Amino acid sequence: MRLDRFLAETTDLTRSLAKKALHRGEVSVNGEVTKQAALHVAPADRVVWNGRPLSLVGLRYVMLHKPTEVECSARRGLYPRAVDLIDLPKAERLQTVGRLDVDTTGLVLLTDDGQWSHRVTSPRRRCGKVYRATLAEPLEGEAMEAARARVAEGILLEGEDKPTLPAELIMHGSRDAELTLYEGRYHQVRRMFAALGNRVIALHRESIGPLSLGSLGEGEWRELSQAEIEAFR
Ligand code: URA
Repeated sequence: MRLDRFLAETTDLTRSLAKKALHRGEVSVNGEVTKQAALHVAPADRVVWNGRPLSLVGLRYVMLHKPTEVECSARRGLYPRAVDLIDLPKAERLQTVGRLDVDTTGLVLLTDDGQWSHRVTSPRRRCGKVYRATLAEPLEGEAMEAARARVAEGILLEGEDKPTLPAELIMHGSRDAELTLYEGRYHQVRRMFAALGNRVIALHRESIGPLSLGSLGEGEWRELSQAEIEAFR
């Protein structure tokens, strides 16, 4: 691969900015500064830009603690996108694995590995996503038992023809609900509670399968370990 293309692939530089960086003598290949954009580099070559070793971007796997007012969409909109919080080269190539609404906080996975993403989201894999919802109305006593039973059976959501997959509802307080889902439909948690005659006023995703946020603060992100990636293989 040509050196200018290699730089454009491995950094946020465009091809023409890469040429300028080369011209300024900011790039070395195997310890030698070079200004040749057309120089051919092979995977084993050591390319360094401004002291930063570069390597071709492989597949990346990231977890983010999404704050509110951040969108999971790929397109730029009203709010910053989840990928805008990830300080990795070509972060915009990452796709969110199951979206959260703009006002939902919590665990978002991002990757450029489409197959892995499919494994995490496919209902067949029965990978539980745990949500914590603050409800507008208290849910207790018989009403709570009835809600738990409906969630366990599946709820027919407005505008859909198939009920939700069996899920689990645990109440930690009269307005503090923990809901574990094995699928990801549009606004699913909010719509399920709406179908139960309630309303979600705050929503947080705590975990996806074996992965949870741990000590990651709002707005922080980290790459997954090999073991965490393998947990979904
Ligand atoms: N369900 C919702 O209603 N919203 C989310 O952000 C995630 C699940």
